[in-house]
Amino acid sequence: MKNTGIEIITSVKQLLEKAGKKIVIVPHENPDGDAIGSAIGLAEILVNYGHHVQVISPNNYPGFLKWFTSEINIVIYDNYKKKAKKIIENADVLICVDFNDAKRAARLEKHIFEFKKQKLLIDHHPNPVEFCDFTISEPTYSSTAELIYDVAKLIGFEKYINRNAAEALFTGIMTDTGSFSHNISNPNTFSVVAELMKLGISTKKIQSNVYHNFSASRMKLLGYCLNEKMEVFPELRSAVISISKKELEQFNFEPGDTEGFVNYPLSINNIVFSALFIEKEGLVKASFRSNGNFAANQFSQNHFEGGGHLNAAGGESKMSLNKTTETFKQLLGQYKHQLLETII
Ligand code: 5GP
Ligand code: MN
Repeated sequence: MKNTGIEIITSVKQLLEKAGKKIVIVPHENPDGDAIGSAIGLAEILVNYGHHVQVISPNNYPGFLKWFTSEINIVIYDNYKKKAKKIIENADVLICVDFNDAKRAARLEKHIFEFKKQKLLIDHHPNPVEFCDFTISEPTYSSTAELIYDVAKLIGFEKYINRNAAEALFTGIMTDTGSFSHNISNPNTFSVVAELMKLGISTKKIQSNVYHNFSASRMKLLGYCLNEKMEVFPELRSAVISISKKELEQFNFEPGDTEGFVNYPLSINNIVFSALFIEKEGLVKASFRSNGNFAANQFSQNHFEGGGHLNAAGGESKMSLNKTTETFKQLLGQYKHQLLETII
C-alpha cells in the first residue's frame, strides 16, 4: 500500500478492535460489483469478529448481484429512508467503500456529513476528497475488494475472512477488472485471488451468477444497441451508444441491464474511447471507457461533472439525450490529437 501509513492502519485497528460496535457500511449510488462485493465482504469480516453491521445502499442494485451466500442484509436508502436514517444515527462507526467523494452517495450524502462519530473511507479511485476521519485510498489497487482483503490482513482480521466474505470480495475483484482483463497493475491482485480461492469459493458459480444471468430482453436490448444505436468514428478512434427511456421501456428495462454495454465498442479494432449515454428521469447518465493512456476520468470531469478511473469513468448531463450526444461528438473533435496519439 503506497499511500497508507502505519499510523492510519493503527488507528483503524483501534477503531475496530473492541467487538460489539454498531457499524454501518455505505457503497456508492448505483452500486456495481465492487461496491456491493466490498460492502458484503467487509460486513462479513466485521460480523465474524463480533461487530453488528448493516449495509445501507443509496439505491437499489442489479439482480446479477443478488445471489450471495452471505446473509448480510442490505437496506436500500431510497426505499426505507426513516429506517436507514435511524440505523446511521445509532451507529458507532461509518465506513464508506468504493467511492472518493461523499457526493457519490447521493441522497445519503447529508447523513454522512451529519454523522459525527468516526468515519472511515476504503477506496481505490484517484483524488479522494477528505470527508472521513481516516482515509485509506489506494488507486493502484484493481478494486476496493482487493484493498479490503489487504486492510483486513494488516489489522489482524485475516482469520475472520470466511468463505462468504471471500465470495463477495472475489466478485468485487472480478467485476472491476472485467474478469481479470484490465485494471491490474500489480501481481498482488492475483495473490489475493489465490488466497480467496483457498477459502473454498466456486469461481465458476460466481462467473455464472454475474455474467450468465441475463434476461432475454436484456440480450435483445444489447443486440439493438450494437446494431441500431452504435455510432463508430474510426477517424477519431471513438464510438458512442445513446439510449432513450422509451427504447429502454420497449425492452422491459431492469436496473443493471445496460451494465457492460459501454465496453463492447472497445473490442473494435483501433477504437480507444467509448461512451454510453442513457436517458434517466431528469438527466442523462454517462459512462466512459478508454484504452491505453486516454484519460476517461479527465474527460468526464471536464465535460460531464463526473470522474472515476483512467480507463473507466462516469458522469451525467442535464441536457437532452440528443443534445448530450451531439455535444459529445463535437468534443471528440477537440480531443482528436489526444485520441490519435493514444498508446494502447
Ligand atoms: P460506470 O460507467 O460503470 O457507471 O462507472 C465507471 C466508473 O466511474 C466507476 O468507477 C464509478 O465509480 C465512476 N463513476 C460513475 N459515475 C460517476 C459519477 O457520476 N461521478 C464520478 N465522480 N464518478 C463516477
Ligand atoms: Mn471499484
